Amino acid sequence: MTYNKKTIEDIDVAGKRVLVRCDFNVPLKDGVITSDKRIVEALPTIKYLLDKGAKVILCSHMGKPHSIFTEGFGLTKKEKQKVEALPAEEQAAAKAELLEKALGDKKKFTLKPVAVRLNELLGDKVTFAEDIIGPDAKAKVAALEAGKAVLIENVRFDARETKNGADFAKELADYADVYVNDAFGSAHRAHASTAGVAAYLPAVCGYLIQKEISVMGKALADPARPFVAILGGAKVSDKIGVINNLIEKVDTLIIGGGMAYTFFKAQGHDVGTSLCEEDKLDLANEMVAKAKAKGVNFMIPVDNIVATEYDENAEHKLVNSDDIPAGWMGLDIGPKTREIFANAIKGAGTVVWNGPMGVSEWKNFAAGTEAVAAAVAESGAISIIGGGDSAAAVEKLGFADKMTHISTGGGASLEFLEGKDLPGISCLLDK
Ligand code: ADP
Ligand code: MG
Repeated sequence: MTYNKKTIEDIDVAGKRVLVRCDFNVPLKDGVITSDKRIVEALPTIKYLLDKGAKVILCSHMGKPHSIFTEGFGLTKKEKQKVEALPAEEQAAAKAELLEKALGDKKKFTLKPVAVRLNELLGDKVTFAEDIIGPDAKAKVAALEAGKAVLIENVRFDARETKNGADFAKELADYADVYVNDAFGSAHRAHASTAGVAAYLPAVCGYLIQKEISVMGKALADPARPFVAILGGAKVSDKIGVINNLIEKVDTLIIGGGMAYTFFKAQGHDVGTSLCEEDKLDLANEMVAKAKAKGVNFMIPVDNIVATEYDENAEHKLVNSDDIPAGWMGLDIGPKTREIFANAIKGAGTVVWNGPMGVSEWKNFAAGTEAVAAAVAESGAISIIGGGDSAAAVEKLGFADKMTHISTGGGASLEFLEGKDLPGISCLLDK
């Protein structure tokens, strides 16, 4: 998809009430934020709006709370049926248990710590509302001054959020004059706060989404060539859509990671105990044939680091791809492959990389991913990293600032690379 969407700079926001969907789904441990990266990344959009004198209403989800209760604490239909199916004397206890669980999740997944951090970063401009469409949020939104913000509570506490309930979307929209979506990580989901609200308000994107769609959009629509795609990670089935879409566009397609073994097996090699999807063998062969028909340079590993078991400290050795012994599993690409892949990456104009080359979380099986990261960093190519684990690997290895763009959305960036329409983006106004 190529998107050309209006941004916050294309719409008048001065004095307006602006509802901003952010991705404040930060990692928490015992109520303490362990990485504020997502909050920091959201600041440019928030600061722009505050500086322009907008009244900013911030919203986000956090985690996957048990959202059986709507704001009014009514059971959802399904839960109600479940409770009512129980013997009469057990119903009250079952209901209480569900209520307690929901209330527990309300503490666990509250956005309150995010509001505290936002205030540290923005200088006390943000108030926090303890509810979403409740009395607290309504009062705080009504009292908002220009250049100030309110963060309302986790939208997923309301079961209508993920169901994209029209009434919930309308209630959110009623807070504002303008809607801004800046939550790329949730843009592949048609939820009330990510897409539904756009039916009721002029809708534009913030800086984060704008960067994602311009960099990735350009790479896919009009790439500097040669265009090299590197795909790895665990499973072929996770990446079929990405392979299918990129095969149409790239000059070179590199396959590594756990995925490679399904391709070896399809070509008739033994893969020992490596990850292998038996039901995807035909598909793997189809992909190879398709690449050949399109004139795509298709590369799979020639050697591998194999281990006796799936364990960080497992005994391991180097073998060629056509020589994987029974009882051993491939957990990384070998040194010959690293060199071949690095050479292919060296001359690239554009590189799109999704999925580690091995179990890069473990030191003994990280060398392949590290070599590819180094090659991409040194290539001078426009480099785009999509996928949560790949982004984490690149950051951990210290190559993050050498990449053109590291996508902030795992699932969303994958769907973008698959060429799918993202509902949180297509709902925004075109330029
Ligand atoms: P991304 O999040 O970047 O899209 P994936 O989630 O598809 O990437 O894949 C990452 C996972 O794949 C990691 O947990 C990694 O350990 C695993 N992986 C990579 N290579 C192998 C392999 N050879 N065998 C088993 N798991 C692998
Ligand atoms: Mg992943």
